Amino acid sequence: MLWRGRRQSDNIEDERSDSGGGPGGGLGGGGQFRIPIGGRTGGGGSIILVILVVLAGWYFGFDPSQILGDGGGQITEDTGSQNGGAPANDEMKQFVATVLADTEDTWTGIFKSEGLTYQDPKLVLFSGQVRSACGFASAAAGPFYCPGDRKVYLDMTFFQQLDQQFGASGEFARAYVVAHEVGHHVQNLTGIMGKFNQMRQGMSEADANQLSVRIELQADCFAGVWAHYTAQKGILEQGDVESALNAAKQIGDDTLQKRMQGYVVPESFNHGTSQQRQTWLARGIKSGKLSDCNTMGGPI
Ligand SMILES: [Zn+2]
Repeated sequence: MLWRGRRQSDNIEDERSDSGGGPGGGLGGGGQFRIPIGGRTGGGGSIILVILVVLAGWYFGFDPSQILGDGGGQITEDTGSQNGGAPANDEMKQFVATVLADTEDTWTGIFKSEGLTYQDPKLVLFSGQVRSACGFASAAAGPFYCPGDRKVYLDMTFFQQLDQQFGASGEFARAYVVAHEVGHHVQNLTGIMGKFNQMRQGMSEADANQLSVRIELQADCFAGVWAHYTAQKGILEQGDVESALNAAKQIGDDTLQKRMQGYVVPESFNHGTSQQRQTWLARGIKSGKLSDCNTMGGPI
């Protein structure tokens, strides 16, 4: 992707140096919370964490369980994530800011053509763990979008995992990850996500997973719509589209489960199979039309 020299978004919030601890900094006012995430520390901390998250959910008016994480399950980390604010990431930060700016331009245009106004999301870069309106999250959960604060959260070490653990290398594979999260933001702005959250109230877990797959595949398709317009700008290079399609394949639920546990449990799929993810991403890339991203009705 020929991204250098293009506009970079101002909507990046770099919190990478905040998460490593140390006094000062922190998340608004007083001392930082250091909540052990996914650890096996005593129950007390976990209960407090749950209460905090539920209270935050109440306050912000959403169900804290509805965070949209895209890490593709349990990724055993984490050999290189102690690089809070490492200079090596600076170029990667510029890349993310450029991709984000490009999504802003594309979606602003698409919304305008529909008589709507696009509101840019913020993108928070973090390292290790982060607090969002959807609660605390660890990098192990992968990138996610929080509808409560309209922010995309990304620990860029995920890109290394994508490359080294998932076999999905290439700049445009990374761009696809960002565009997918922005796709969730589009769903939020258009009310699709609100409807989704309403619908899944009271559903069985299996049914909720099926609905989740439809939402995720639509975010893939929206990422494809973005890529369609990016291609029209003439900034894609040979192999870019293929690397995004390969990423979609490598983070399909069936492929991930096979790699991590050796077998698949289809009822637990919540992002879609490799084939589904590739199909919907490709569809968005080909047509560039939102109307071709209707994953809610009909077969997927
Ligand atoms: Zn997603």
